[in-house]
Amino acid sequence: MTHDAAVSKAREIATRVLVPSAGQNDKAARFSTEAVESLGELGMLGLLLPVDLGGSGLGPRAFAQVTATLAEADASVAMVYVMHICGTASISAARPSAARALAPILKEIGAGRHLSTLAFSEAGSRSHFWAPISRAQRNGNGARISAKKSWVTSAGHAQSYVVSTLAPEGAGPTDSTLYLLAAGTRGLSVAGPWDGLGLRANASAPIALDDCEVSSDFQLTEDGAGFAAMLNVVLPLFNLGSASVALGLCRAAVAGTASHLKSAKFEHLGKSLGESLPTLRAQLATMQIETDGLSARVDDLVEHLEKPSEMTMLRVLETKAAAGDAAISVTSAAMRACGGAAFSKHLGIERLFRDAHAGAVMAPTGDVLREFIGKSLLGMPLF
Ligand SMILES: Cc1cc2nc3c(=O)[nH]c(=O)nc-3n(C[C@H](O)[C@H](O)[C@H](O)COP(=O)(O)OP(=O)(O)OC[C@H]3O[C@@H](n4cnc5c(N)ncnc54)[C@H](O)[C@@H]3O)c2cc1C
Repeated sequence: MTHDAAVSKAREIATRVLVPSAGQNDKAARFSTEAVESLGELGMLGLLLPVDLGGSGLGPRAFAQVTATLAEADASVAMVYVMHICGTASISAARPSAARALAPILKEIGAGRHLSTLAFSEAGSRSHFWAPISRAQRNGNGARISAKKSWVTSAGHAQSYVVSTLAPEGAGPTDSTLYLLAAGTRGLSVAGPWDGLGLRANASAPIALDDCEVSSDFQLTEDGAGFAAMLNVVLPLFNLGSASVALGLCRAAVAGTASHLKSAKFEHLGKSLGESLPTLRAQLATMQIETDGLSARVDDLVEHLEKPSEMTMLRVLETKAAAGDAAISVTSAAMRACGGAAFSKHLGIERLFRDAHAGAVMAPTGDVLREFIGKSLLGMPLF
């Protein structure tokens, strides 16, 4: 599949599947299995996988554009997609000794029949996902894992979970290992409901791992090498994906606001809101400027990931922080410009506003990113 074909298929899924049901799924906090099926059928689940595994062999540019296109229609589905792409990248980057056991799973992903996700955050270490509290116990060649994983996107819907846990003999708080757990693993269960303020339709529920057995074939990293995989494999893609979700939300907020300002009328003046009030036109213009600024940032990060340099990690950190702020700012302006019609949920603008707030609290949170950026500028160690 070419880059343009991927973006056009994402548009088709957005128009045909996401737009008609996004509002209802948000209201009911309902996970869209139809959306995941469509993503699979149209080849989106294997977007970044090599062609010999049934994937499309595309890169961060296609991932960013596909994600933003999905998010413009339904940010919950777009975040399910981001987590899947990050999970898939972790499986693809697994240590060579696991390659044989993992090949059938990667082929299932390439065929569009397998959804994966990340189960990193733990109740004990909260947003500090790089420091799991749980610790794997040796079990012959494999391991046993018990953990309380919080906020796992696609919980109960994914076919596999990329799980972080401290290595059996790990000495420090970041000496973790990544494992792949199949959804049907004995002891793995969804441990509660998901009733979020935003991204309500992405099933980000807690997962309990109760003495789950995992064979060494499904140990993705060497013992203690989980942290490096989180930083080098997951973080760049997750931050790019998150920023792309934010961009889609901003674009939807601009479009929704422009449409309202054109269609809603002051009948006593015989003019639309947009024709009547320069303040609203100025707010809309500011929203557009911020959205295009974010778009340029996303493009800049794509270019960095395509041709990495010593500045790339800084851009990875900056882009998610800036994107979270932009999404909150643009959707807040949309709420204000659309007034009571937005507040009383007539326009779907308030869904964008609620969804936009998730990006800033998803780890690494906007605060943590600033902390990392500040420390790196001062030459201080990050951890
Ligand atoms: C919709 C949604 C989907 C999610 N999906 C997943 C998923 O698929 N997989 C997964 O592993 N996790 C997922 N998460 C979890 C997410 O990544 C965070 O771990 C979680 O939101 C942290 O919430 P908390 O209340 O524990 O934050 P806390 O850690 O309690 O943070 C509270 C506040 O303190 C600030 N703070 C924390 N540390 C610092 C610091 N060092 N410096 C400055 N400020 C700091 C934070 O920014 C925040 O404002 C998801 C979360 C949400 C909301």
